[in-house]
Amino acid sequence: NLSDRLERSFKILKGEGKITEINVAETLKDVRRALLDADVNYKVAKSFTDTVKQKALGMNVLTAVKPSQLMVKIVHDELAELMGGKAAELKIEGRAGAPAIILMSGLQGSGKTTFSGKLAKMLKERNHKKPLLVACDVYRPAAIEQLKVVGETVGVPVYSEPDNKNVVEIANHAIQEAKSKANDVVIIDTAGRLAVDEEMMQEIETLKKAVNPNETLFVVDSMTGQDAVNTAKEFNDRLDFDGVILTKLDGDTRGGAALSIRTVVTKPIKFVGTGEKMEAIDVFYPERMADRILGMGDIVSLVERAQQQFDEEEAKKLEKKIRKNKFDFDDFMGQIQQIKKMGNIKDLAAMIPGVGKQIKDLDIDDNAFKGIEAIINSMTPKERANPDIINPSRRRRIAAGSGTKLDDVNRLMKQFEQTRKMMKMVTGLNSSKMAQMAAA
Ligand code: GDP
Ligand code: MG
Repeated sequence: NLSDRLERSFKILKGEGKITEINVAETLKDVRRALLDADVNYKVAKSFTDTVKQKALGMNVLTAVKPSQLMVKIVHDELAELMGGKAAELKIEGRAGAPAIILMSGLQGSGKTTFSGKLAKMLKERNHKKPLLVACDVYRPAAIEQLKVVGETVGVPVYSEPDNKNVVEIANHAIQEAKSKANDVVIIDTAGRLAVDEEMMQEIETLKKAVNPNETLFVVDSMTGQDAVNTAKEFNDRLDFDGVILTKLDGDTRGGAALSIRTVVTKPIKFVGTGEKMEAIDVFYPERMADRILGMGDIVSLVERAQQQFDEEEAKKLEKKIRKNKFDFDDFMGQIQQIKKMGNIKDLAAMIPGVGKQIKDLDIDDNAFKGIEAIINSMTPKERANPDIINPSRRRRIAAGSGTKLDDVNRLMKQFEQTRKMMKMVTGLNSSKMAQMAAA
């Protein structure tokens, strides 16, 4: 699934000090695959990963968090950005004394009738509006009945003309009725077909021209995945709608349709439907959808767990070596690398709450390890693995080879011995000894 894929791809980045061209390419290949799996359109996924790549390569990871987490954040922010930044508004004020007119469009079963009811309820309760629902799905008698049931549920009147098949007439009559009854919002529910069909398109196009809505909304079932994009495009070409309603997000839909539709038709997603009940309506939040597409919480915790596990394994190995007094310069170097990997020490420390201010004026040398590394690098593998053989003549050679002084090498040897002793002492206090001490 998506989380697994991303976890795997982020593993490639784990432990890398910075985001490089190579690990970005590898990771983004997997991100792209993950997006396709989340029903994101191919072209959209491609251009998306290209953008992320540019952003990621410009980032200086050394001063920030782990590269894997930084990548998650870049991908997440870019997703949210692409899906609209902030939540889009709905125009609910009519023109000069006339009611606001909201026209629903979309395929059959997309959720138009249900959403009409949800919207009416929301406008009534939250915006103190007096909506009127209008039944312009005139082909199936059951459709009018359905809207009436919905209207009753939410306590909103429904205008219908059972024997009239002319939707323009019905809509115009309804608007007159709204004016006379002081309804300030008219929500027009229309007929959909199972697939895009010329007759239906013409009808809704004509209706739109006739009533000149303040909002034309395109309702789409998020479970339809890739098809949703094509449908959205065809409706938008004909209707130039104002916003998208993404329904059935309560299912196990992966949400990729949101990103694709937003990118392909460049119209905002205004609301989402999250259930069959009339309360199941939500403003569309790009951030939340980005989380959903990424499975964000999951990924971040997976990455962290993976990292922790990695550190624990390393620590266990190290402990074993120390206990056998086998801690050597390779391990010492490994420790230095671990510390360096965490990034700029000062930046890192500054991120700890409360510490930031205190260390601001402190001079922390990022090159603190340079001399030490040079000395260790000048040791032969045999010397590194067996520090005890490093006698005075070897030390002189190492100093010359590393461009340091004999004093420097001696100091490092002393430091190393101290570290080794201390580590042995600390790990010597293993659980059983601790228990003995506690009991004593
Ligand atoms: P219309 O043909 O476009 O008017 O679609 P309907 O409003 O009749 O909805 C079709 C089906 O989808 C109905 O069974 C609704 O109850 C269901 N439905 C609509 N919106 C949602 C939603 O957000 N979540 C779920 N689970 N079902 C929905
Ligand atoms: Mg309907």
